[in-house]
Amino acid sequence: MRILVTNDDGIDSHGILALVKSMRRLGDVIVVAPDRQQSAVGHALTVSSPLRATPFYRDGAMFGYAINGTPADCVKLAVSTLLDHRPDLVVSGINHGSNTSVNAIYSGTVSAATEGTLMGIPSMAVSVTTFDETHDMSLAADVAYTVASRLHSLNLPQGTLLNVNVPSVRAEDFKGIRVTRQGHSVWEDSYDRRKDPMGREYFWLTGTFVSVRELPDADDLVVAQGYAAVTPLHYELTNFAVQEQLKNVQW
Ligand code: MN
Repeated sequence: MRILVTNDDGIDSHGILALVKSMRRLGDVIVVAPDRQQSAVGHALTVSSPLRATPFYRDGAMFGYAINGTPADCVKLAVSTLLDHRPDLVVSGINHGSNTSVNAIYSGTVSAATEGTLMGIPSMAVSVTTFDETHDMSLAADVAYTVASRLHSLNLPQGTLLNVNVPSVRAEDFKGIRVTRQGHSVWEDSYDRRKDPMGREYFWLTGTFVSVRELPDADDLVVAQGYAAVTPLHYELTNFAVQEQLKNVQW
């Protein structure tokens, strides 16, 4: 099995190293990942500047290719051009910070997996619910292994990926894996209004995540209860009910 690993936190992140180690238990791992932090870039593509693939070393060994682009760029470039063989799986992560509810829209981690499944390759994204860079990733890495080892045989339809969110709990407090749906939690936006040294105003996104807990099988809620949440996401964006409604409109 050939596994393409990518992420949005950058090729030097703690999470991608943990993911690579766990995916090596499944097969040959190829890493093609952004050369810098690319969180919350969504499905952006680079179309107005050159992309470069630079060999990247970790602990003295070749780790993968660092790309001066987005997570979706990495998957597109790797699968179409860089790799000698088409990967059997695309696995993105392990992201620092949860990608539950609306976060899945903004997430570069999820978008890398979306790109994989749009290219017809079974794909998944993995996130852990903490931004702590020193967090022990072994539980999330084990969950990633468990889900990835089943991913190929699930025969998910093209355009559908698995979005996996793992709680930042100790192994003994972990309750197991549950199948979930995307929750309805949202961000209450706010921006810090600051002054630069020249006295000019600038803004910095801060914001509070508002947990909406009305769905019993929502990813947020289930993760907060100590489970890993596995949500199948797809990118058929058409609202079919409204499509029917619009058919009755006299244009
Ligand atoms: Mn990230």
